[in-house]
Amino acid sequence: MEESYDLLVIGAGMAGSTAAAHAARAGKTVCVVEIGSDVGGSARYAGYAWTAPDHDVLDEQNPHGDPELKRLLVERFDDGVEWIRSVGVEVGEPQRILSFGRGHKFDTNQYVDLCTRMVRDAGGDVLLRATTESLLFEDGVVRGAVIRTGSNAPREVHARSTLLATGGFQGNKTLLAEHVHPAAGEMQLRSNPHSVGDGYRLATSVGAATGVGDAGFYGHLIPSGIELVDPADFVDLSLYYSEHALLFDTDNERFVDETLGDHLTAMALLSRPGGRGLLIADSRVHRDWMSASYVEGAVAIDKFALAGKRGGRVGKADALEDLEYLPEEWGYDGAAIASAVRRFNDAAERGIGQAPGRALDSASMSEPPYYVIETVPAITFPFHGVTIDRRARVLGVDGAAIPGLFAAGSDTGGLWNRAYAGGLAAALVLGLAAAAEVR
Ligand SMILES: Cc1cc2nc3c(=O)[nH]c(=O)nc-3n(C[C@H](O)[C@H](O)[C@H](O)COP(=O)(O)OP(=O)(O)OC[C@H]3O[C@@H](n4cnc5c(N)ncnc54)[C@H](O)[C@@H]3O)c2cc1C
Repeated sequence: MEESYDLLVIGAGMAGSTAAAHAARAGKTVCVVEIGSDVGGSARYAGYAWTAPDHDVLDEQNPHGDPELKRLLVERFDDGVEWIRSVGVEVGEPQRILSFGRGHKFDTNQYVDLCTRMVRDAGGDVLLRATTESLLFEDGVVRGAVIRTGSNAPREVHARSTLLATGGFQGNKTLLAEHVHPAAGEMQLRSNPHSVGDGYRLATSVGAATGVGDAGFYGHLIPSGIELVDPADFVDLSLYYSEHALLFDTDNERFVDETLGDHLTAMALLSRPGGRGLLIADSRVHRDWMSASYVEGAVAIDKFALAGKRGGRVGKADALEDLEYLPEEWGYDGAAIASAVRRFNDAAERGIGQAPGRALDSASMSEPPYYVIETVPAITFPFHGVTIDRRARVLGVDGAAIPGLFAAGSDTGGLWNRAYAGGLAAALVLGLAAAAEVR
């Protein structure tokens, strides 16, 4: 018997679950295909739907992002939040996120579970541990996909609309080296393990265009030499406080305005020699930021204590001079770094405006002891991906939409270009845009 649906969703994280549940509620027949043993993907580790509050702020933060997708994100964000509420999930009061964003805390686990239940209650299918071999592509139209569950033979699942929502290619070293940075494959994953580029593979197999090169990635700094073993590590070991610290590369130089955001610093560090650096914080930063919550409502953890406990390269110096005693094998010149911190402090304390190279936190780094952690970037998802329009339609290399094919969430490229303002929000808004197209 031929299986046929209005919507086939490949990947059941934030984007896929959203589209599937919305279409199911609208009375469409839906099949969800998830490669993992459970739905949710990276969304299960996230907690805040947020983005820039208006177009001007998003343009300022993300000037090279696709204008159409940026407008969609800002315009439809509030509708997305209302949709989450309508599913039955409590959404927190508006709150500030990072220096420029606004958003809401919500329980992403409850959200993806309720979306899945909505699909099943409406008579839809949710197939777990299922892989997608290829798209059904006839006469230039995508008509579903060839799916395999467990050890069963592959079968054709037909659909009028097929949505790619596999969460990006952060787990694929070849694609990372090709589209993010030659060294990007060296980074540890801070994401679900299944996003290895299947959406990208399927889309490009039918002629999809993909986004601009060197767009970067979303990730955070983590201590070097520590393996991320448990998903809880993704947040616990992220050094969000770097926004208030000073970061030196192996040439013993600062190379970035750390205050612009840990996620941007992570991107910049990947391009430095060896992709590693030394984060220096003083006692004030340790007290106010290193041991405090990153955003209101998040659990506070002493990052220094945890990195030390887990065997990372950490050190505490009672005075700047003591940086000279950094272990030689780390490969830094502690005296040069101490001099650079002194120069930074002199300029900051002279009180003639901004501290050098800092847009936001101008305070000097002068309250001993000093907390030192060697750090490397870890990746959550790349910004390169499948090209779509504001209706989430996948565009071919000729710029025309490929009939029947949609993409949403981190499988898509173009929205972010060496900048970032909310992966959940993008997946939510694009998932809803795709669902609205289902006929
Ligand atoms: C620790 C952490 C914290 C985060 N916190 C936030 C936050 O607070 N706010 C925010 O905005 N963003 C946050 N993010 C980012 C956010 O989680 C992602 O941007 C978002 O989940 C992307 O949605 P998605 O649907 O594209 O991918 P995902 O949610 O990852 O879903 C992709 C799904 O596709 C599945 N899949 C992969 N390949 C296949 C295949 N071949 N066939 C079928 N299924 C497949 C995966 O198993 C997964 O279930 C965080 C991420 C992490 C890791």
